[in-house]
Amino acid sequence: LNAQVVEAGKLSALGEMAAGIAHEINNPVAIMMEEAGWIEDVLGELQEQDAVREIGDSARQIRTQGVRCRDITHKLLSFARRSDREVHAVDINAMVAEMVELSGQKARTVSVHVVVAMAEGLPPVAASPSELQQVFLNLFNNAFDAMEGSGGTLKVATLMSDTGMVAVNVADTGPGMPEAILQRIYDPFFTTKPVGKGTGLGLSICYGLINKMGGEIKVSSIVGVGTTFQVLLPPFDPAVHAAQAAQGGGLLAGG
Ligand code: ADP
Repeated sequence: LNAQVVEAGKLSALGEMAAGIAHEINNPVAIMMEEAGWIEDVLGELQEQDAVREIGDSARQIRTQGVRCRDITHKLLSFARRSDREVHAVDINAMVAEMVELSGQKARTVSVHVVVAMAEGLPPVAASPSELQQVFLNLFNNAFDAMEGSGGTLKVATLMSDTGMVAVNVADTGPGMPEAILQRIYDPFFTTKPVGKGTGLGLSICYGLINKMGGEIKVSSIVGVGTTFQVLLPPFDPAVHAAQAAQGGGLLAGG
């Protein structure tokens, strides 16, 4: 793979993302505009009780659609933000423990039992801590959403993969996904969740972040049994890190 091919791939992925963003933001904005226009038409009839109530409904609709736009743009911004993305040596067990702790309240709310199985003696991984936290929170939240209503078990395990990467398995006992959905889960804006609940950005962001860290994300899912995501991360190598820092950014540059 030469540099030009990689660059072209990056650019077309960016273009695709931008097109998706434009499309997805346009839909709610179009509704807002329509509603706003309607408010203008109706304002002349303010003295009528019915008109006042309908203006209230319309305003609520505008707010709902606005929230939707805001959620999408917030996620995009946190994805695009340049700060706090430095790669450090991260103790993966400590990070997983912290994320499980942070998710405790949500787990109880959806009646999910969280089980943790950590391997001992794992090397630190090379990752940006805040981005890795985002990845695990997305994976945990998806698992909670999948098991909402039914309850279930979320099992989080750390281990050494046979390829020398550090692995984190996030396994749920939710409904699983058929092949047709599985094919699309990393697509920006693909969601099966209702408006206001899903943006379809979680997994595409996870995918981008993990790739940037030199890792890999894998999924296996069985309908009626559950879903397991596996995040593979490279061990932290002080020599590589020093070389990248000397180059002025390394992993951070060129993104
Ligand atoms: P969102 O959560 O906003 O829908 P994601 O990109 O995180 O966006 O997920 C995309 C879709 O993948 C979800 O809408 C859901 O259909 C599916 N999905 C993700 N994680 C799971 C899971 N653990 N179990 C079942 N389906 C899942």
